[in-house]
Amino acid sequence: MDIYASPTFDMACRQFDLCADLLEIPDNDRARLKYPKRALTVAVPIHLDDGRTVVYPGYRVQHHLSLGPTKGGMRYHPDVTIGEVAALAMWMSWKCALTGLPYGGAKGGIACDPRKMSTTELERLTRRFTQEIISFIGPQVDIPAPDVGTNEQTMAWMMDTYSTHMGYSVPGVVTGKPVGLGGSLGRREATGRGVGYLIGRAMDVLGLDSGKCTAVVQGYGNVGSVAAASLAKHGTKIIAVSDVDGGLYNAGGLDLQKLDAHLAARKPFTAFPEADHITNDQLLVTPCDVLVPAALERQITEKNAARIQCRILAEAANGPVTPDADLIINQRPEIFVIPDILCNAGGVVVSYFEWVQDLQSFFWSEAEVVDKLFRILETAFAQTHHLSKQRKISLRQAALSLGIKRVAEAKKQRGLFP
Ligand code: NAD
Repeated sequence: MDIYASPTFDMACRQFDLCADLLEIPDNDRARLKYPKRALTVAVPIHLDDGRTVVYPGYRVQHHLSLGPTKGGMRYHPDVTIGEVAALAMWMSWKCALTGLPYGGAKGGIACDPRKMSTTELERLTRRFTQEIISFIGPQVDIPAPDVGTNEQTMAWMMDTYSTHMGYSVPGVVTGKPVGLGGSLGRREATGRGVGYLIGRAMDVLGLDSGKCTAVVQGYGNVGSVAAASLAKHGTKIIAVSDVDGGLYNAGGLDLQKLDAHLAARKPFTAFPEADHITNDQLLVTPCDVLVPAALERQITEKNAARIQCRILAEAANGPVTPDADLIINQRPEIFVIPDILCNAGGVVVSYFEWVQDLQSFFWSEAEVVDKLFRILETAFAQTHHLSKQRKISLRQAALSLGIKRVAEAKKQRGLFP
């Protein structure tokens, strides 16, 4: 399986191997659990606005098919590779199993820079990509959702392209759509809202008062901005946030409403006046109660893990902490880690609700969505915390073990064809 070789895929494999040892999974069964079931690489040609024709590489990886269709985001970012997508698909599998969803994991993406593309170019790219992978997706096959660099509009274009191909509307082919097209109330906020809920549960365990805590958020995108707002709602002071261009720091607390208005006016993130500038490296080691990496993988490494200064490390991004950094953080019992597959699971949980609503053409209130979301997250949090205490293992190993064990059991029960 050398095609997936990459730092992020190696990282996901290292995490899997550790848990497979813990769970005493027989050697015979490990490769079948670890490697993605199938993957598709496509060349996506489009005309740019200036008349040039450019071909972008696009990927979709489906990790396992043992529990239902596959589910996972679509990422538009210059660094997307098939190895990164495969790692993200593997994490989606353990996340869906941890939260009891009837899905295998998937992920996809295009190596492109959406910040440098016009809306019309992005639309052409999304539609052509959807056409190239059309036989690989579907409401009973594989259901994409937004991720870094994609949003509700991207999902609307995918849904429209798929529906045009089929000849009728198929809202259940993607989740994270606009509400008017069969999207779910509360989906846009789901991941960040779930991050906020789980941080609240970690504060309960540690006996911290949210009104006296400070938080730092790396990546003020969909997930990071909603997580920050949800913490601020409970009185936590947000002292630093960042995007790809750099960070903003205000010891007295950033005014998030003003920051949101500044961004809505399409002004540069780092031009926000009521803050000092810091780099993303400085931001990660800023003293705070809650550190929320909500950008990309491998941000906390062996180089800065000993210097992070927080009580709660809430992994809103996928894979923000490398295994080498984990070894360091595991020696720092003062840090309560909410591992990624638990911390950001709110997104796929409400995506599941959206899919269920689409299949039934019967839609729920936002209060119902939020109530059901918190109940699922509560169970996953309690089970993870309990297993971590019982087996004296890290919260990451506990969460991964729960997810991996459920997939392993499903594969065992189904047997091996033929
Ligand atoms: P997004 O594109 O809305 O936001 C990403 C943010 O990170 C942007 O503000 C961007 O400027 C910033 N960023 C990018 N590179 C950075 C860097 N090197 N340093 C600092 N900031 C950087 O994406 P999102 O949907 O908010 O996703 C963020 C993370 O959450 C990703 O790891 C994604 O896989 C994960 N996630 C997202 C969802 C979801 O529902 N959107 C669900 C689960 C997990």
